[in-house]
Amino acid sequence: MEWVYRLSAPDYEDMTNLPKALRKRLADDVPLYRSRIIGKQESQDGTTKLLLKWPNGATSECVLIPEGPRRTACISSQVGCPVKCTFCASGMGGLKRQLSASEIVEQAMRVRQLCDDAEHLSNVVFMGLGEPLANYDATVRALCIINAEWGMAIGARKITVSTVGLPKHMRNLADEGMQITLALSLHAPTDGLRREIIPWAKRATIDSLIEACRYYFERTGREVTLEYVLLGEVNDGDQHARQLAEVAKQMRSNVNLISYNPVEGLPHRRTSRDVAQRFLNTLRSAGINAHLRPSRGLDIDAACGQLRRREGTTDEALDREGIPNE
Ligand code: SAH
Repeated sequence: MEWVYRLSAPDYEDMTNLPKALRKRLADDVPLYRSRIIGKQESQDGTTKLLLKWPNGATSECVLIPEGPRRTACISSQVGCPVKCTFCASGMGGLKRQLSASEIVEQAMRVRQLCDDAEHLSNVVFMGLGEPLANYDATVRALCIINAEWGMAIGARKITVSTVGLPKHMRNLADEGMQITLALSLHAPTDGLRREIIPWAKRATIDSLIEACRYYFERTGREVTLEYVLLGEVNDGDQHARQLAEVAKQMRSNVNLISYNPVEGLPHRRTSRDVAQRFLNTLRSAGINAHLRPSRGLDIDAACGQLRRREGTTDEALDREGIPNE
């Protein structure tokens, strides 16, 4: 564990205090890194995105996001995504397969290896491709390894799981006994509008999500982050801001307004800076703790699923490689 997680040894061969025969057996039986880095893009703002290819041909994206002293790894939980939000590139080809716990952790390790010693990886967010709570067991195992002292030793509060909102699994996660930060992709303040932009919203009402968030806070003491991607003339009106404030007030939460990262082929537009600022002010004057997040890595298509599409590892390419569409 020390060699793998603390010293980031790339290979068993480097673990020179282990007997040679053991090193060979380990290399044969439990391969250390299974992905190949087949794409790397660096943004002017320092955001670096990796495209990893797994032995069976599937690909995942992971991103290093530097921000002041913070170094955040954004990792994927599935290949593709079953949710198909109207503004997101990840679901455009549907879900290809689940990632295993080791594949999820490997992404965080690959990103950590992009950091230097002075500025080591400080945060991990499950905001890449996929719906982490729809791959619950692997996600929780990966969370344990990323959090463990013997593992990547990243504090639970510095790990964020972002979910489209599956109340039962949000409760289960609360019961795991870790103080993971939970982010809920709300994106709309009413069930009607939410169902227009998030197909899975029909599985859970906003009221049931509020209940699940309240439970999460009771069990973990962690405020839930409400994510809200501003989509021009869809969910960015004054009435939406007021309705959102009413939702946010019903639990211990903070609101993260996210600028839309345009995706080719999808029908949405960015909200102007003035409208975004007004939306933020409306929330704040209603007493909500809200922030406006600038987009990172715009010049490298850093929104979920974009690099993977750009590299042609889309449906058709995966189908050619025989990856089953689940
Ligand atoms: N399935 C999880 C993780 C998704 S990615 C979830 O739904 O939360 C993390 C966040 O990025 C989500 O809030 C998602 O809605 C948002 N997102 C996806 N595509 C985006 C885009 N093009 N621009 C801005 N945010 C986007």
